[in-house]
Amino acid sequence: MKKRTGRINPMEKRDAPTVLVIEDEPAIADTITYALETEGINSVRTATGREGLDRLSGGGISLVILDIGLPDVDGFALCREIRRSSDIPIIFLTARSEEIDRVVGLEIGGDDYIVKPFSPRELTARVKAVLRRRPGPSAAPSRSGSIPFQVDEERLRISYFGTPLELSRYELGILRVLIAAPGRVYSRRKLMELVWEEPECSWERTVDSHIKSLRRKLREVNPDREAIRTHRGLGYSLAEEW
Ligand code: CA
Repeated sequence: MKKRTGRINPMEKRDAPTVLVIEDEPAIADTITYALETEGINSVRTATGREGLDRLSGGGISLVILDIGLPDVDGFALCREIRRSSDIPIIFLTARSEEIDRVVGLEIGGDDYIVKPFSPRELTARVKAVLRRRPGPSAAPSRSGSIPFQVDEERLRISYFGTPLELSRYELGILRVLIAAPGRVYSRRKLMELVWEEPECSWERTVDSHIKSLRRKLREVNPDREAIRTHRGLGYSLAEEW
């Protein structure tokens, strides 16, 4: 049977968001579209970046899942191309740790990333979270499980429970990394690599003092919640459950 590409599933649910999946590996694309459809999210797929751009310009898409290793174009380059004309949410699919560092560390314009191999549950949770953060006319209505942070990437500001935070450069950098992947544990060394310009010139304990001050600022907004978790001997993560 020939795989459909770029066409909307004829079984699509009206009013549900439609996700464009740009992924050249059929098995992975199958897993993604199946997981999304199980959650009532429509999907269309293309195997190349070019077809993806064409499909996107046709309209009706709420979110893009973008593989970085595509046959015709680098996923990062495609993201920049999309960002010239659209602020549609983009979730990167990454295979290697050096790609993750680029996704998190650079101003590429992605909203989140998922590391292969991933579980269908993780994928749909991320898709729903991004759709909630970037509500549009076709965003998913459910609000359960969302994190109480809003990131304004253009002004480089973060709000917590609706209150804008006054953050130093490093506090902002650390919090952005944590928010991008709630529950993911980052070592001090990793946070420094992702946030500091010259991590080799700093002490890892510096991270602790910035985390301490971040926590104080978050507690001022909401004293009942512990947003940043400490994992003894491992590092820090953003709370997953809210
Ligand atoms: Ca690929």
